[in-house]
Amino acid sequence: MSLTAGVIAVQGDATEHAAAIERAARAHGERAEGVEIRRAGRVPDCDVLLLPGGESTAITRHLHREGIADEIEAHVARGKPVLATCAGLIVASRDAGDARVETLGLLDVTVERNAFGRQRDSFEARLNVDGLDEPFPAVFIRAPRISAVGDDGTVEVLAEHGGSPVAVRDGPVVGTAFHPELTGDPRVHGLAFFESMPARDATRRSNRPN
Ligand code: GLN
Repeated sequence: MSLTAGVIAVQGDATEHAAAIERAARAHGERAEGVEIRRAGRVPDCDVLLLPGGESTAITRHLHREGIADEIEAHVARGKPVLATCAGLIVASRDAGDARVETLGLLDVTVERNAFGRQRDSFEARLNVDGLDEPFPAVFIRAPRISAVGDDGTVEVLAEHGGSPVAVRDGPVVGTAFHPELTGDPRVHGLAFFESMPARDATRRSNRPN
């Protein structure tokens, strides 16, 4: 059986993400097929979802206008995995501190857009990520900072850089401030989609305000 992996393809590296998911599946002895999603109606058929980078203002506008936002929320309410990267992390957050970004509240974190500073708009760092044996080559591009994690204890910090979390897990949702699809290393996709996750409390999450 092959896993259907929906890559939200409003912006960002949909092709690279689909390739990384397919590689991660093989590494875990499974099969996955990446499908690009631009319209409502496809998400309910997906086993896992990926929210790529891009520009979070444009992405959230598109997701709400097309009715995809509700479908993503329903996917998470059913406990199905999501990997949200860079702008995707902003989209998935509870609060992005920016009225132009209507976040989905899938991850109980507060983020600050473009927080890593102009001279470091783009950089690579080798990160120690919980659950990975070797450091991960992480590419940061105008990356958000996770400035706070919710205090109800659902968020697990998987990696930090410069004193801030840069990879987190909240039940079935993994978020990274960096782009894991750019270095050909599929281990973060593997961690999000093919490795066990803590049980989550669906009731508490669905009551959480955005
Ligand atoms: N700066 C972008 C935003 O705030 C995110 C950048 C990215 O996804 N590489 O939406």
